[in-house]
Amino acid sequence: MAAKPDILVIIPVRPVQMKMLEEAYTLHRYDKAEDPDALLAEVGEKIRGIVTMGISPLTKETMAAMPNLEIVALGSVGYDTIDVEACGARGIPVTNTPDVLTDDVADLAMALTFDTLRGYSRGERYVREGQWRDEGFMAPTTSLTGKTMGIVGLGRIGKAIARRAEAFEMAIAYHGRRQQSDVPYAFHETPAGLASASDVLMLACPGGDATRGLVTRAVLDALGPDGHLVNISRGSVVDEPELLKALQENRIAGAALDVFENEPDIDEAFFVLDNVVLQPHVGSATRETRGAMAQLVVDNLAAHFAGKPLLTPV
Ligand code: NAP
Repeated sequence: MAAKPDILVIIPVRPVQMKMLEEAYTLHRYDKAEDPDALLAEVGEKIRGIVTMGISPLTKETMAAMPNLEIVALGSVGYDTIDVEACGARGIPVTNTPDVLTDDVADLAMALTFDTLRGYSRGERYVREGQWRDEGFMAPTTSLTGKTMGIVGLGRIGKAIARRAEAFEMAIAYHGRRQQSDVPYAFHETPAGLASASDVLMLACPGGDATRGLVTRAVLDALGPDGHLVNISRGSVVDEPELLKALQENRIAGAALDVFENEPDIDEAFFVLDNVVLQPHVGSATRETRGAMAQLVVDNLAAHFAGKPLLTPV
């Protein structure tokens, strides 16, 4: 029997699929190693595949320690932390997990939209902390119906958010690198132009250098004191110190964030603000979706080692 291929696990998948991987491959647990560098030095030569997610850096230098690397299988759709160019130069395919997570991420985007406009988390605190009893009704919030949602990044997730927002009778506008001919929504050439036309600015574009700091002070000021920012994309897309200032100075009405610049050790200045909703990067984190994402990792690796076409190459 041929030896099982050696796989480096940087970020594991769900337990059921980890068992499948254990059966088919020899796994080297970088995620559990006391000294990950020492592990890499020891086994790098024989590694043929990597299992990780596009939230953890994978550099050209790290991959140089794996001269026999053949495939990088990501358990995420985003791949902004992966040096895909270096992989391409070495002929190493990268796979990700599109589509299977779209609905869950779009659901969270809507939940965050509701939360920042209607103040559900704030209301929860208001009840638990006794303010309702002691101070009476909470101040009125803001309705969704009839408002405009401006989506930065009208891709798979952006379109799923748009469909949901339309069901709540919101108008939709968007910004991307180009206008799409087959969508009925208003296109804006610039993020600031979109922000000034929006009540809710929804970020659903990829992270990485091309979108770093796309939400500047000027974009936040264009959104204005009645506007809300929702971010389910990547923390890097927002100039976070400027967002904090805009929230502290009430230059925007509120924000709801699933992603941050320095996860999970996020800026504690967020914790004391009442006009921000915080989530621990859980857009795709349901058992169903994480299972489907993990299965794509297993199936892409299986296809690769069987010499078959990959299911979801980047
Ligand atoms: P997608 O289908 O590739 O859509 C991305 C959209 O962003 C495209 O419509 C693209 O449109 C636009 N875009 C790309 N570069 C841009 C730029 N420089 N400026 C403005 N727009 C740009 O990807 P998806 O599956 O919808 O996923 C989108 C992102 O969501 C992922 O990359 C990931 O970062 C994030 N995500 C987050 C979670 C979470 O848990 N919070 C989960 C999954 C995904 P154009 O080509 O027309 O510019």
